[in-house]
Amino acid sequence: MTGIPESHPRYLSLVTRERLVEMMHRGIVSEAGLIAHGRGEAFDYLIGERTNDFAAEAERAGVAALLLAEKPVVSVNGNAAALAGKELIDLAGLMGARMEVNLFHRTEERVDNIVRYLESLGGREILGPEPNAKIPGLEHARGLCHSDGIYSADVVLVPLEDGDRAKALKKMGKTVITIDLNPLSRTAKTADITIVDNITRAVPNMAKLAEKMCRSSADELRDILKRYDNGTVLRSALACIGRNARISGEWRM
Ligand code: ATP
Repeated sequence: MTGIPESHPRYLSLVTRERLVEMMHRGIVSEAGLIAHGRGEAFDYLIGERTNDFAAEAERAGVAALLLAEKPVVSVNGNAAALAGKELIDLAGLMGARMEVNLFHRTEERVDNIVRYLESLGGREILGPEPNAKIPGLEHARGLCHSDGIYSADVVLVPLEDGDRAKALKKMGKTVITIDLNPLSRTAKTADITIVDNITRAVPNMAKLAEKMCRSSADELRDILKRYDNGTVLRSALACIGRNARISGEWRM
């Protein structure tokens, strides 16, 4: 790590960038993953780099859907592992969910690297290598998955996902929960529950919620989902971005 002083106003952002670059050299993050991170950072700026009310509401609904699921699965890609690997393992544990490494830019070597990395953080029985099923409608490598994981899941948490894959999962009849800082992405618009928040904030928030909500009754959890409207959440995220952009527009040197 280069010596970024902790007093630097963008310390966290700079350290996170260095972490991703290091993870790319370790064969966990892809080169394209660095570009996706840059897009995420831009949207994080626009939502104020905080968990807004619309994100907190979606996080609650996401936890409710995962707790109600018969077969919840958490899908992990390189960026998700690098940014929130340990926290995703903890969340999956609280939900009784399987984890599956599923990559857009799939190579078997990178799948193995990510599985080994997650195991080093305490993850167990992580799916990913030797896929034995296919998501219909996607060309070969992007559709590969596991029959015990994503393929047979009823509810999937797919952070930082690609739009085509999110659509294909919806077509299979799954409840799709995503974490995506861009409320305009195809994934954000396709998912049933879109958490417009940084994965580094969203996953620990969800784990804290899960610890409390696992004591709720199924009826209480269903009620949260009944009252949840993803369209309203996405509109609130866009309104927030609009407000922040207007405030910046009024700013003078
Ligand atoms: P889509 O195919 O859904 O339209 P895309 O092509 O813009 O999306 P991808 O590169 O496939 O995007 O996926 C990355 C998504 O993850 C982007 O929307 C980006 O804003 C978001 N993202 C990147 N970093 C983070 C992060 N740390 N937390 C949450 N979301 C992030």
